[in-house]
Amino acid sequence: MEKKELLYEGKAKQIYATDDANVIIMHYKDDATAYNGIKKAQIRDKGELNNKITTIIYEYLAKNNIPTHYIKTLNEREELCKKVKIFPLEVIVRNYIAGSMSKRLDIPEGTKPENVIYELCYKNDALGDPLINDHHAVAVKACSYEDLKVIYDLTKRINELLIELFKGVGIILVDFKIEFGKTADGEIVLADEISPDTARLWDEKTHDKLDKDRFRRDLGHVTEAYQEIYKRLGRL
Ligand code: 5GP
Repeated sequence: MEKKELLYEGKAKQIYATDDANVIIMHYKDDATAYNGIKKAQIRDKGELNNKITTIIYEYLAKNNIPTHYIKTLNEREELCKKVKIFPLEVIVRNYIAGSMSKRLDIPEGTKPENVIYELCYKNDALGDPLINDHHAVAVKACSYEDLKVIYDLTKRINELLIELFKGVGIILVDFKIEFGKTADGEIVLADEISPDTARLWDEKTHDKLDKDRFRRDLGHVTEAYQEIYKRLGRL
């Protein structure tokens, strides 16, 4: 597979074309941003660690029949993936209250609701990725109601599988963000990374934060937290 031109550069990753029109290379950078790009830094080894962590998670999800864009990991920073048309949606799942929901509704972080909370954000930097509902998503043509049904069904299964995976290594899956895309043949698949950049992961005993909140909130030891997640998942 030959690496060709840069197609897209995001905050934490680059997407390259390949000699196959239906396949791309996803390259993980060490760049980190928070608060809609206001806070910026480089986190040592983050790209490599997120590539490794995403690889473990995607291989586990694929084994459990979740359709994904992932094909294989090429090297320390790159994955080969199916080219998809990404829905401009962030699907957020909350098993515990934290972050923006905690602030918006004044509920203490770490509160466990009786239900699982699903949110949609419209991926639009100029608008700051606003929280929207299903009807907004259809109205702005981000997806159809049929797409949403598939997306929610997959999201529910992914959450159950990830809770189980992290529980096995002593980690509470507090919340996470995922994205979906459509392949050339119309299949809806999970896309983008799943890593401490996109999920809140707390040690089950100490409730230590082992995720990007260490960067967002200046808690220090960011690389070490990501290393800890990789180390624990690597033990499986
Ligand atoms: P919150 O809405 O509380 O800020 O985020 C909820 C969850 O989704 C957290 O695990 C957070 O890491 C993830 N998340 C939400 N928006 C984004 C985003 O724009 N980028 C990344 N990397 N993660 C996000």
